[in-house]
Amino acid sequence: MSIKDNVDYIQSLKGAAAVKSGRKPEDVLLIAVTKLHEPWEMEEAIAAGITDIAENKVQEIQKKYDLIKSPVRWHLIGHLQTNKVKNIIDKVVMIHSVDSLHLAQEIDKRAAAIGKTMDILLQVNAAHEESKFGVDPLNCKQLLMEILESCPNVKVRGLMHIAPYSEDPEEVRPYFKEVKVLYDELAQIDHENSDFAYLSMGMSNDFETAIEEGANIIRVGTSIFGARDYSKKMGGEQ
Ligand SMILES: *Cc1c(COP(=O)(O)O)cnc(C)c1O
Repeated sequence: MSIKDNVDYIQSLKGAAAVKSGRKPEDVLLIAVTKLHEPWEMEEAIAAGITDIAENKVQEIQKKYDLIKSPVRWHLIGHLQTNKVKNIIDKVVMIHSVDSLHLAQEIDKRAAAIGKTMDILLQVNAAHEESKFGVDPLNCKQLLMEILESCPNVKVRGLMHIAPYSEDPEEVRPYFKEVKVLYDELAQIDHENSDFAYLSMGMSNDFETAIEEGANIIRVGTSIFGARDYSKKMGGEQ
């Protein structure tokens, strides 16, 4: 299977899951997660219709950014250290992994410096996994209110969630449901810098379930590009 075959296949599964949940195929965005994959593989995915790509490390974006010649939107989906915000603020369209006021304030400062408003998602850790970043669902509203109060150059566009890995996506369906309920609640908040439109959840092994539960962005790597070679360490240490 080529990268194009894989993209076509995922797009068709994505479309079917969207229709199953009462939406149109184009209502759900497929982001290709390109971490540890080569620029030529990324170009192949873009040629197959991918419009949005995501990396989880700042250094990997910096390294690849100028090598990708085709127009594409870049997203950051991994943990972001405040001292690295300045390196990607002009490169990405959205940061999916905001989980502290401190980080949001740094994004706000760097966005202001280049005259930009940065779209962000709040990363929710619904399964309370210690190995994962993200804010506890119970603290999400408070974090949102604090960000809205103090970060005029940040626009909160929704939530991001990473489910625990499971062979059986039914096991993680309750987390998707929980995050959707939280999303719907927070989306009611009336503030000019809160403009909820995106629920980013679902990866290679669980994206159909995530879509059924309301995701409108899915982040898929392995099912498009194959297994990652972690010996490459393209992003360097973070
Ligand atoms: C790597 C990664 C993905 C993609 O995972 P696959 O299982 O390869 O599809 C999605 N989201 C985040 C945050 C990731 O780090």
